[in-house]
Amino acid sequence: MNSAQPIAPASADADEQFLDTVTGIADGPLAGLANRIDQEGYYPLDIMAQLGQAGALGAHLDGNGQRFDLAIAAMQRVSRRCGTTGFLVWAHQVCGLYLEQSGNPALSGERLAAHSQGLRFGGTALSNPMKALSGIERMALVANPDGDGYRVNGVLPWVSHIGAGQYCGALAAVRDAQGNDLGEIMFLLDCDDQVELRQCPAFAGMEGSSTWGIRLNDYPVTPERIIASPARPFIARIRGGFILLQVGMALGVAEGALESMIDVEGQLGHVNQFLDDRPAQLQAELADMMQRLATLARTPYDTSRDYLLDVLDLRAQGAEFALRAAQSAMLHQGARGYVLSAAAQRRLREAQFVGIVTPAIKHLRWEMDQLSREQWPQPREGAQ
Ligand SMILES: Cc1cc2nc3c(=O)[nH]c(=O)nc-3n(C[C@H](O)[C@H](O)[C@H](O)COP(=O)(O)OP(=O)(O)OC[C@H]3O[C@@H](n4cnc5c(N)ncnc54)[C@H](O)[C@@H]3O)c2cc1C
Repeated sequence: MNSAQPIAPASADADEQFLDTVTGIADGPLAGLANRIDQEGYYPLDIMAQLGQAGALGAHLDGNGQRFDLAIAAMQRVSRRCGTTGFLVWAHQVCGLYLEQSGNPALSGERLAAHSQGLRFGGTALSNPMKALSGIERMALVANPDGDGYRVNGVLPWVSHIGAGQYCGALAAVRDAQGNDLGEIMFLLDCDDQVELRQCPAFAGMEGSSTWGIRLNDYPVTPERIIASPARPFIARIRGGFILLQVGMALGVAEGALESMIDVEGQLGHVNQFLDDRPAQLQAELADMMQRLATLARTPYDTSRDYLLDVLDLRAQGAEFALRAAQSAMLHQGARGYVLSAAAQRRLREAQFVGIVTPAIKHLRWEMDQLSREQWPQPREGAQ
């Protein structure tokens, strides 16, 4: 438990009211900003603050009733209008998860409360470690023991929802002076003057995600910054929730695409009827995925193999579904969807991001293959 205020609702009426408030923010001010976010790189911290005040950034926390269903539903409504902001919501939500589940009073007290209410902002730098712990690539950050803490060095090419005064959850491989492997630590990386933020190249989308390269040069990780040591059991515990939360982004982008298809049905239905992936078919698939999501959201800390397989499968299907829906929406909309300011073409790029952000579709398939052959790397209890 933590000292985050119980700002998430606790009854069916309150749930509805909560989602209405989130929808109001998404369909109102956020919808009006979507093109600026996408094309001009406007970083919507004002919208994130509103979402925080509404409870959308902390609903999944234990201290707020562990309502993963509501947190995901909120992200879905945001992603319907702007995939970039949906991604920011996900990054913020998982960062809150790290702070709370750390059990470190320096992170899970007032700091978590401010985070979950959208008074402070931070994301997650776990793409590389998630891949590294699954054996896909090498760990980018290295920590050397230093007194009661560590000094961390290395480079991460892209981390979103950070900036001066912000922060992100990160992981480093621990090595002693002889280069011996001592496991991994997870820590909160404060973007203070000891952190070099490097400008990224212009992206095809997600321009308003405040994505930076990070270079660490002897960055001090004091005990107050430790999220987990050893990190592997912690990652094993949060992995399901981390991946499941992303499904909200995938389904939201797909739902927005569906709406664009329905919008032109009156005018273009007579010819659009010859297209594949028609709205009725996609709606049925969406309903099926939402039902599976609702079941999985009840037990986000289940570490069983079957649960993880179901989560990976739903996340992969969600990404593939978003890609298909975005493609179909473009074909349904025709030229009006190809205009630079049109949501249909923006969603194509948002859906592509859902497919490549870690865990990307290729990683999800790789991990499902590993898991189904029972070669899943087991967490090393006590590794340090
Ligand atoms: C807009 C954007 C926002 C992101 N936000 C985050 C975030 O908040 N947190 C986070 O942890 N990760 C973030 N990522 C990283 C993302 O989750 C993926 O890990 C990344 O896109 C690499 O995907 P991949 O594993 O498919 O690598 P692949 O494309 O298969 O490449 C393999 C390796 O090469 C590296 N690589 C490929 N191209 C380049 C390049 N041009 N320059 C440098 N290295 C390269 C990759 O990082 C990866 O390690 C972001 C990426 C993008 C594009």
